[in-house]
Amino acid sequence: MARIVMKFGGTSMAGTERIRRVAKIVQRQQAAGHEVAVVVSAMAGETDRLVNFSREASALYDPAEYDVVVASGEQVTSGLLAMHLQALGSKARSWLGWQLPVRTDDAHGSARIEAIDSDAVIASMQAGEIAVIPGFQGISPQGRITTLGRGGSDTSAVAVAAAVKADRCDIYTDVDGVYTTDPRIVAKARKLKNVTYEEMLELASVGSKVLQTRSVSLAMKEKVRVQVLSSFIDEDAPAADTLPGTMIVSDEELAKIQEGLDMERQLITGIAADKNDAKVILTAVPDRPGAVATIFGPLAAANINVDMIIQNVGRADTDTDVTFTVPQADLERTKAVLDENRPSIGYEKLSTDPKISKISVVGVGMRSHAGVAATMFKALADRGINIQAISTSEIKVSVLIDSDETELAVRLLHTAYGLDAA
Ligand code: ASP
Ligand code: MG
Repeated sequence: MARIVMKFGGTSMAGTERIRRVAKIVQRQQAAGHEVAVVVSAMAGETDRLVNFSREASALYDPAEYDVVVASGEQVTSGLLAMHLQALGSKARSWLGWQLPVRTDDAHGSARIEAIDSDAVIASMQAGEIAVIPGFQGISPQGRITTLGRGGSDTSAVAVAAAVKADRCDIYTDVDGVYTTDPRIVAKARKLKNVTYEEMLELASVGSKVLQTRSVSLAMKEKVRVQVLSSFIDEDAPAADTLPGTMIVSDEELAKIQEGLDMERQLITGIAADKNDAKVILTAVPDRPGAVATIFGPLAAANINVDMIIQNVGRADTDTDVTFTVPQADLERTKAVLDENRPSIGYEKLSTDPKISKISVVGVGMRSHAGVAATMFKALADRGINIQAISTSEIKVSVLIDSDETELAVRLLHTAYGLDAA
């Protein structure tokens, strides 16, 4: 017997037929002898609709009331799923965020979970009742409803799994797992059986949008084993015990799994592409101590996230060029901040290029291997793809290229690292 938290996203909860299917999938886990809690999203599209109503009410809506409005989508689906489970003969009840409670801070619209009181829900699970918990919502220290930020129900599910000490947190979604790269770009992409938390964080933050990034950090911190799997399995498919999806685990667990399978660790686990950044170039910045601080201080103060940074060697030892990337959505604000601070920075010219793409190769296997970056540079060079910037970490090498070459680069690298499915 295991204790399992199951999470279903908006597509799985959109309408009576789908909720009934979810109820059957949940029931099968219980029938297999497990204790089950379910975390649900609002019906697909519902949260967007509620956000719009808030905007229409007032451009300067009260964030606390916004949370009252947008949290309601999950209240509806949790009640409905409990009804469907009951109709199928199971004991079930909903536990709203304020009832458990899921305690958060008071940052309305993007609250963080601080603690979840789990005694009551564990007792009810042990008594054979299925606990249905709306994702995305909690309660502030002032007793008001909060929400966790868009996509937050993944984080709710991981937090519940940690609180009830679940053996596993199964995230049912509209993809059937995590792939070596985007299967829409590379038809030969393979589904990964296992991926580590750190790899998942790198893959998620650079484009494989399967789970909310925050949920992966939380799973890593709380050591929650997370499985991503499809909610479109047919009802006769084997129970999730056979782990049909991708397991997200710690380095240690991965090492154990691979030892058991007598398998050599892949050098590279996956390749991600991200077209959401823009490049900013400042020419002829005075080359003196403190120069870059005058650039990045004001950007940080404006909450603009800078990613890759290159400072070129100065010309004639008096000035230098500084290149960096920011989210495209922040480009206009970035220009305004730099313009405003031009007197203290002292650059000559500001130019920008939104037509760039960041390609990353990710894998814990590269920790113990040299030559990963060289393989990447050579594969790109052989096809005449120009590298505009490079950054590395222990488990990742990223390069910046022209965005027109994104698909070509991902395909080349997928082949170069031997990731193509047979
Ligand atoms: N319903 C919320 C949203 O659409 C939370 C979630 O589904 O994860 O953002
Ligand atoms: Mg989601």
